Amino acid sequence: MPKPQSPSNATKQRTAAIARRLKAFNGKPYLHNPASVIETLVATILSQNTSDRNSARAYQQLRATWHSWDELADAGQAELAAAIRIGGLAQQKSRTILAALQALRQRHGTLDTTTLDSTLDQLATDAILAELTSIPGVGLKTASCVLMFALGRDLCAVDTHVHRVVNRLGIVQSSTPDKTFHTLRPLLPRNAAVQFHVDLIRFGRWVCKAQRPHCFHCPLYDLCQWDEREQYAAAGQPGSAPVSGDILLSDILRPNSNN
Ligand code: SF4
Repeated sequence: MPKPQSPSNATKQRTAAIARRLKAFNGKPYLHNPASVIETLVATILSQNTSDRNSARAYQQLRATWHSWDELADAGQAELAAAIRIGGLAQQKSRTILAALQALRQRHGTLDTTTLDSTLDQLATDAILAELTSIPGVGLKTASCVLMFALGRDLCAVDTHVHRVVNRLGIVQSSTPDKTFHTLRPLLPRNAAVQFHVDLIRFGRWVCKAQRPHCFHCPLYDLCQWDEREQYAAAGQPGSAPVSGDILLSDILRPNSNN
């Protein structure tokens, strides 16, 4: 007779099943195409609380204005805020970007992207997370995006979509995205975390939406533990399909979309 599973093993297996099914549903494998730590950090800061399109335009405007990261680190905050205004929260984001560049240069002696990436890549994941989150304005989600997209670390950054979906599914029960990040981390199958992050964001935007989720055509319905799913399934419109065509941070960072 098989030994009874501990709750954490059962949750790990359910999480793995959800990750497999989401990957098949989205049908868009994540292709690692690393941008540098600085590019990813700046793009992630710019992506906060704005649309994908405006975030991408702010990033492109910034790259067109400053030709090196050292030049940008020495720029005035007002000048930077003016360049990225289209992305919203320009004062706050310009402060964070300048603080991040100056902190990295002070700590590692360079903003050369190849040297800096190779220096940081020698460090353990938690050490880099601690360093980046010590920069004023850089939170755990931003830091983990940098580790995932620039350094290829096996993490699942948690934004509002990821937080909402994994809580509804019952994989975690936590009150904040940061708590969700720490609870989710040991549950994920090895080398599947980045794909899971990308899949959850798409799924959270188009199916398991904050308002009126599409439980009526959800591919995870039988794996979901949310109390309200039956009510939303009954209220649905069978046959309608999720819309796609969004841009994710990982798309913005692709080299041919940065120029
Ligand atoms: S059944 Fe509904 S709440 Fe559950 S994962 Fe699917 S869309 Fe989200």
